[in-house]
Amino acid sequence: MIHVTLSELMVIYLLLLLGGVGTMWVIRKIGTVRSAWRLRKTWVICQACSNHYQDTSPSTLPVCPECGRANERLPIREI
Ligand SMILES: [Zn+2]
Repeated sequence: MIHVTLSELMVIYLLLLLGGVGTMWVIRKIGTVRSAWRLRKTWVICQACSNHYQDTSPSTLPVCPECGRANERLPIREI
């Protein structure tokens, strides 16, 4: 049997609680970053008319709905 005082038990409880909250926060943050990255991959900026449009098709050269130009999927920079 392990002998633990009440103060040690409270410290262990708080450490476990903080560890659980920290783990959940990290998992949630990773999910948020991954979904933002996935969403950013679907947005395309037309190189001719600067129109921003979303294209979820797997084509490598999505066509701009405004001017009809085929554009490359360039990474969108964060500001
Ligand atoms: Zn365009």
